[in-house]
Amino acid sequence: MASDRPVRVRFAPSPTGMLHIGGARTALFNWAFARSCGGKFILRIEDTDTARNSQESLQSILDSLRWLGLDWDEGPDANGDFGPYFQSERVDSYRDAIARGLEEGWLYRCFATTEQLEAQREAAREAKSNWRFDSASRELSAEDANARHEAGEANVLRFRVQADQNITIRDHIRGDVSFSSNEVEDWVAVRGNGMPTYNFVCALDDSAMEISHVIRGEEHLVNTPKQVLVYRALGLPEPEYAHVPLILGKDGKKLSKRTGDTALGDYITAGYPTDALFNFLCLLGFSIDDKTDVFTREQLLEAFSLKRISKAGAIFDTDKLAWICGDYVRRMSVPELTAAVLPYCIEAGLVEEDASACEDLQQVVAAFQERFQLYSEFAPQAAGMFGELPDWDKKARKALAADGAADAVAKLAATLEEGAWPPEDFMSVVKGVAGELEVGLGKVMKPVRAALTGTLGGPELDAVIQMLGRERSLKRLREFPATAASE
Ligand code: GLU
Repeated sequence: MASDRPVRVRFAPSPTGMLHIGGARTALFNWAFARSCGGKFILRIEDTDTARNSQESLQSILDSLRWLGLDWDEGPDANGDFGPYFQSERVDSYRDAIARGLEEGWLYRCFATTEQLEAQREAAREAKSNWRFDSASRELSAEDANARHEAGEANVLRFRVQADQNITIRDHIRGDVSFSSNEVEDWVAVRGNGMPTYNFVCALDDSAMEISHVIRGEEHLVNTPKQVLVYRALGLPEPEYAHVPLILGKDGKKLSKRTGDTALGDYITAGYPTDALFNFLCLLGFSIDDKTDVFTREQLLEAFSLKRISKAGAIFDTDKLAWICGDYVRRMSVPELTAAVLPYCIEAGLVEEDASACEDLQQVVAAFQERFQLYSEFAPQAAGMFGELPDWDKKARKALAADGAADAVAKLAATLEEGAWPPEDFMSVVKGVAGELEVGLGKVMKPVRAALTGTLGGPELDAVIQMLGRERSLKRLREFPATAASE
């Protein structure tokens, strides 16, 4: 199925909301395809829906794409030879095609009113048959239609779909997909207000921008025959296609707000590592082989092929996403990870602005590295390692209320105070205290951990006392029983 045209692909978002996970995945596949075969990746903003467009949506889409590290060769901020890249600035370029369509008769003025159309639909519903558009205007002569138009009668321009035509597209994921033109109604190509519709301008723009492969969501498959008819009417070369599978929630239904966040921006704010989310998005319908879940961008580009995208719906598996995030976090260098968690630590009031090079912070990050998956999770987990005293949580206070717990903590504090700092083998100190008090190891470990960290989880205790240092460790062991008792 190799095309001999230079590879030019595009992502064409409408700025009517935040970038959806599905849109991000489509953009990523387009980018990966272009980058893997030396083609061009174009960003075209489909902003003709003036009622729903917003500057804020546009900005958040651009920010999300940049956050993912997807760079475009042509588009906003990267002008190329095929601009403008905002559809709203291309409106003039559609006039010739419209004039030609009217002249050649593949576009016609339709004067059917909304009421007439609704009555046709209703009749079809009653007869339990599929509604097929049937306009008396189809048979009007161009002169009559023009005269009514000139006289001010409202009308739209419909595409005249000829019956019994075969429309076959080359789809790199689905193989050849055939439609009969009998399944396609005479669709509206230009609205009453003169604005051309998506299917019409999409074909015109893809053609003008010399798009070789249209890679987009499966939900657009129904639009493809309409767009192909435009190419055919104008005698333009047709692109090849790749309709990527729907993204499904774990319940097997289309991914929706109900089953998880659907906007990429929500994942950015929640502190997902960029490369992990990028990797996970690739796995939504694509695989580099049968066994590798985690791969670099270089590996992706080496292996990328539209053929490796599956037809079946892709499950958005949040457990897998969390696992991949954890894997990326574990493999990051400590300074890199410290820089990534820093904004969350500043927000939580744990450190100052310029703390990323601070050795103490890096030490805490290293101790917690195995324990979190999102950048945002570090600050709440490690909060107890900052400041003089931690906020002892409910479980920590409960651990101290246990029989003998306060004695164990006091005894350990006294032993540490007498010994060298840092103790050569902290666990043997703990064992010694347990032995003297004739209690199990857990009876000492649990309240001591609670006293030192403010909670019951966290890294090994010897790492904890290293991070806290002598003064803070002793202070916590001394003051915890008093604080807890004063409650
Ligand atoms: N603006 C359309 C969308 O956001 C583009 C569809 C296409 O890629 O053709 O769904």
